[in-house]
Amino acid sequence: MKRRDFLKTASTSIAGTGAVLAAPAVARAQETFSFKMTNAYPPNAPFYVSGPGSPTDFCKKVEVMSGGRLKIQHFAAGELIPALEGFDAVQSGTVEMNAANAYFWAGKIFAAQYFTTVPFGLNFQGMNAWLYSGGGLELWHELYKPLGLVAFPMGNTGVQMTGWFRKPINSVEDFKGLKMRIPGLAGKVYKELGVDVKLLPGGEIFPALERGVIDAAEFVGPFQDRRLGLQNAAKYYYTTGWHEPSNVTELLISLNAWEKLPKDLQEIVKVAAMACNLESHCWSEANNADALVDLVKNHGVQTNVLPKEIVAKLRSVTFGVLEAEAAKDPRTKKVHDAFMAFREKHRSWSSISEKPYHDDLA
Ligand code: CA
Repeated sequence: MKRRDFLKTASTSIAGTGAVLAAPAVARAQETFSFKMTNAYPPNAPFYVSGPGSPTDFCKKVEVMSGGRLKIQHFAAGELIPALEGFDAVQSGTVEMNAANAYFWAGKIFAAQYFTTVPFGLNFQGMNAWLYSGGGLELWHELYKPLGLVAFPMGNTGVQMTGWFRKPINSVEDFKGLKMRIPGLAGKVYKELGVDVKLLPGGEIFPALERGVIDAAEFVGPFQDRRLGLQNAAKYYYTTGWHEPSNVTELLISLNAWEKLPKDLQEIVKVAAMACNLESHCWSEANNADALVDLVKNHGVQTNVLPKEIVAKLRSVTFGVLEAEAAKDPRTKKVHDAFMAFREKHRSWSSISEKPYHDDLA
């Protein structure tokens, strides 16, 4: 049977069994949508803007999967609006979508922080387990619904590095008066240890570190940090990623625009975002591995693990900061309690599964 004849027969039989449903379904299937997506990161930034599993890749995936019925025009930071105005732009309906990290909105709504990362929070596996299978995504939707927004995970850097230090760090004392570039919640925690916290955009980290304006800096991980040239400004590269054990890219969508999409296009958006979440993480893992070898072998970089007493201090300060925030706002408390309960559950499972395996690899 020729394809056209088959389709004719198929549609006749659909019409025969459910004429009421068939007509609007056909009309909706032909309806096309044009969305705009802004992004908090600058043009061409690998992972954050371009490359496998990036926001521009998401736009492309959606267009292909929907046969062109949903087209999303992407604007990097500064191309339509400034970097951190995506939340307001989506909320006001200027654009339908934005790519960023939910913790950029922590000043507006602290609980958003938990949907990117919190210090001593969840790694990639744990975060996804919480979001997709542990009630996290439902909580995210519940938090954003009254704001006229909906969000999905659309990427993950994986574990980040503590950062770059011009001098070795041996004790909690060494943090006193240390000038460090570190944004967000981790900055708050370091402040409690006496760190002089500096907020600098990505592009200003290298010159500041090189000139000694700052003594230390955190950015992302080997691939992204090497792009900024941080290995040429400091040689001591510390781990663990206590401050960002993983980091979720947020696909933020106007609830109004989302509700206008037919179910199949909604599903395409969800599935494409989920694919990018996985693909971006795979890309990060592979590229970080290569970049770290290069940094150590060809740039004289020395990797170190933060001493245990420092990590223990950072952990106790972190929990104090998070509990204080949770006490201020019932929305934060609800997300905090759910996140911490899941963290505990995942920690006890991974301590008997992933951890012994990793320990044996060493
Ligand atoms: Ca970071």
